[in-house]
Amino acid sequence: MKKALLVVDYTVDFVAEDGLLTCGLPGQKLEQAITALTKQFLAQGDAVFFINDLHEKDDTLHPESKLFPPHNIRGTKGRNMYGELHSLYEANPEIIWLDKTRYSAFAGTNLFLLLRERGIEELHIVGVCTDICILHTCVDAYNLGYPTIVHKAGVASFNEQAHEFALAHIQNSLGFTII
Ligand code: ZN
Repeated sequence: MKKALLVVDYTVDFVAEDGLLTCGLPGQKLEQAITALTKQFLAQGDAVFFINDLHEKDDTLHPESKLFPPHNIRGTKGRNMYGELHSLYEANPEIIWLDKTRYSAFAGTNLFLLLRERGIEELHIVGVCTDICILHTCVDAYNLGYPTIVHKAGVASFNEQAHEFALAHIQNSLGFTII
């Protein structure tokens, strides 16, 4: 079965101590697990996607402008992958980088087309935040009929309660596997 790893929003702004919308230590603790999974998928010849928020400076029309401080602004280092994932991306041109402007990795991107082209039948999802971009990506994967595995060691949120709710929803209402 062909599978793909989706690493969602594991960027400096969402994870680093000085990130503009950081989930802090819970996010930083994922670095090893996400790095290991990425290396494993690359070694197996499986598809790896790094799918990250892209926002424009002073974009008052974007719905997130009323909800969150500015983050992942085009051309800033906040959009770089966090930690070892940054050098891993630079060293592996086969990693596919996608920009997204909404919570879900599918919203307004060509992710679905790229998955179809590659005959991907199973998704593995990691990144932040569990209750926002991971959850919304999972809902779209569910609606598209993708069997999906969420790696518990690879997801986190700034809100522990919301993290737990999201994992339970993903497992119990979407029927996805949490490992
Ligand atoms: Zn955003």
